[in-house]
Amino acid sequence: MTSFQDFGLADPISRALKDENYLTPTPIQAQTIPIALTGRDVVGIAQTGTGKTASFALPILHRLLQSRTKPQPKHCRVLVLSPTRELSGQILDSFNAYGRHMRLSSALAIGGVPMGRQVRSVMQGVEVMVATPGRLLDLVQGNALKLNQVEYLVLDEADRMLDMGFINDIRKIVSKLPKTRQTLFFSATMPKDIADLAEQMLRDPARVAVTPVASTVDRIEQRVIQVDHSAKPTILAQILKQDSVNRALIFTRTKHGADKVVKGLVKAGIPADAIHGNKSQNHRERVLAAFRTGEIRTLVATDIAARGIDVDGISHVVNFDLPNIPETYVHRIGRTARAGADGVAISLCAGPDEHSYLRDIERLIRITLPKEDRRTPGHRNAAPAPQQHRAGQGKPHHGHSGRPQHDAGPGSHAPGSKGPQRRRKHAGHQGQNGQPNRHEPARPSQSGKGDGIQGVAFLRRENRPARPTRNRNSQS
Ligand code: AMP
Repeated sequence: MTSFQDFGLADPISRALKDENYLTPTPIQAQTIPIALTGRDVVGIAQTGTGKTASFALPILHRLLQSRTKPQPKHCRVLVLSPTRELSGQILDSFNAYGRHMRLSSALAIGGVPMGRQVRSVMQGVEVMVATPGRLLDLVQGNALKLNQVEYLVLDEADRMLDMGFINDIRKIVSKLPKTRQTLFFSATMPKDIADLAEQMLRDPARVAVTPVASTVDRIEQRVIQVDHSAKPTILAQILKQDSVNRALIFTRTKHGADKVVKGLVKAGIPADAIHGNKSQNHRERVLAAFRTGEIRTLVATDIAARGIDVDGISHVVNFDLPNIPETYVHRIGRTARAGADGVAISLCAGPDEHSYLRDIERLIRITLPKEDRRTPGHRNAAPAPQQHRAGQGKPHHGHSGRPQHDAGPGSHAPGSKGPQRRRKHAGHQGQNGQPNRHEPARPSQSGKGDGIQGVAFLRRENRPARPTRNRNSQS
């Protein structure tokens, strides 16, 4: 097995890893670090929670140390782009933690906070700049930052950045960068649009991949409770009052829904708060900090706000609403069972629309989830339980529920209809005889050119020692 010593990382970095108590590289680190250290471009399929931040931060820091030059005023040597403010803050914290013995200069450029401080922070020039694309362009267009001396570019969670509409900003930013640079490109999924973007931005990249979304779920105990819509708040409160719940993250589909859930929980005597796009950056940071320290043990979030929350020790993820995109389910539940711990994911499923989403989720993860039926008899007849299909098979036939379609609520779809769902092809193999086949042989692909990125086999996340929760507040 590879160890961090095998990489020959500079002494200040090795010391920081000791401080962090990192003993063994994760699979994405074991694959990426040796290649990135040679200066080659890398395109990686990896999700948050796999240790991918260190897989790009460590080789970059090592290379910075090898040719330490003072950055020019208003310039940066490393540019990291990430989709959200939270994730950007966490990436910056990681760089600062791994670079703590090398007097690293770094800055953060994220929206939602005044620009003045960010402008001042890059005035003298910095080695590492972590940014969301929109704010970075603001700085560039305001002449506060110049990109013509960037030596290293990282795109983190590229698929999310495209989902969030950052493609034009990214293209503009990339057009201002020197052609000669090292680019490290990470995405949780690699559909064609992302692969095309990578193709345009990278030169002869090595391809690495770990953990298809469908197999991150191995260590998570997953359950579904079939409920009536109106009973969701009560059942949620019952779940959260159980002793085993240490720290819980609750997902809703809408911002308004998140606020409503918080109100209901507080009324039931469970302290909770919400983070979503309508909350100020200050509020989000305060709430996240309270969640990390355990002051608040229940956090309610929408998908975009939760993306990139890096809090260890989340014992339970509860899907108050099921997502209509099956991959989102996997992203959500991946918030628990981090850093080697186990976790529980409970989904509340109500009405024909959510039953349809559930079928899509089961097909993606190739597991038929255990279900507890707590619907009142009237509703039970109206919304049939999903058929016990054999996971991994073609779409099961959805019988007509006999329920008027408008019952499903605004923006929803007839049972079994695809609606607006975006389907992404995911690599993996179908189990034989209808058995879920979740344990693919570990076979990383890291050869170079011509190596098809879709269809590669994947490594599973290795068990890593649980780390104490670290306060990773965003800075500005
Ligand atoms: P990431 O996928 O980069 O968000 O990392 C997920 C979590 O794993 C973070 O809390 C990291 O600090 C932690 N981590 C990353 N690499 C290692 C490692 N080699 N050993 C232990 N923990 C790690």
